[in-house]
Amino acid sequence: MEKVELIYEGKAKKLWSTKDKDRLIVEFKDDLTAFNAQKKSQEAGKGALNCEISADLFDLLAQNGIRTHLIERIDATHQLVKRVDIIKIEVVIRNIATGSLTRRLGIKEGTKLPFALAELYYKDDRLEDPIINDEHAQIMNLATQNEINALKDIGRKINGVLSAFFADRALTLVDFKVEFGRGDYGEILLSDEISPDSCRFWDARSGEKLDKDRFRQDLGGVKVAYEEVLKRIKDKR
Ligand code: UDP
Repeated sequence: MEKVELIYEGKAKKLWSTKDKDRLIVEFKDDLTAFNAQKKSQEAGKGALNCEISADLFDLLAQNGIRTHLIERIDATHQLVKRVDIIKIEVVIRNIATGSLTRRLGIKEGTKLPFALAELYYKDDRLEDPIINDEHAQIMNLATQNEINALKDIGRKINGVLSAFFADRALTLVDFKVEFGRGDYGEILLSDEISPDSCRFWDARSGEKLDKDRFRQDLGGVKVAYEEVLKRIKDKR
């Protein structure tokens, strides 16, 4: 399957049409952005790392009954995916308080939450992805209440699978963001990516951050951290 036309370029990925109207090619870029793209950089090899990490995690989730848009990883930086009608909601699941949860509500950094918290954000760069609730989502026609319930349920199920998987690899899944689309029959499919760009991983022993916070907080060693995440996915230790 070959790229035909560039149909969308986002911060970290490009989307290409193919000869098959139901299939798209996702290209993972080396660009890194944070704080709604106010901070920008590039990290050679980051696109390939995220492409492989995300494909491996989508495969793992598929094996655990989560439907995804991924058909196959084509090469180092490309995936073939089903075309979906993207739902303009970002679902964030949190196990430990950090980042915007700490800033917004003053919950102490590192607090283990009593249950996995599911949050919704409106996917709109101009508005800087504001946090919303179920009622906002319905009023804005982003999704039906049934779909919203499904997004949260699937988000929590993904959290269960990934938290256990990474715990076995001495990584704590602190929080993550997922996006979903509707397939041909309205079925909800996990889309976009799951990678250190969209998750927080803390080393279970040292507490070291192995995710995009290394870029957000100028900690250095971004690529080494992403490589470490891929290594742990590949070989359980
Ligand atoms: N996240 C993301 N894209 C966004 C916002 C958040 O992938 O546009 C991820 C982020 O990497 C983290 C989780 O969602 O794993 C929660 O992020 P938070 O709201 O704490 O964001 P912050 O403002 O601290 O980056």
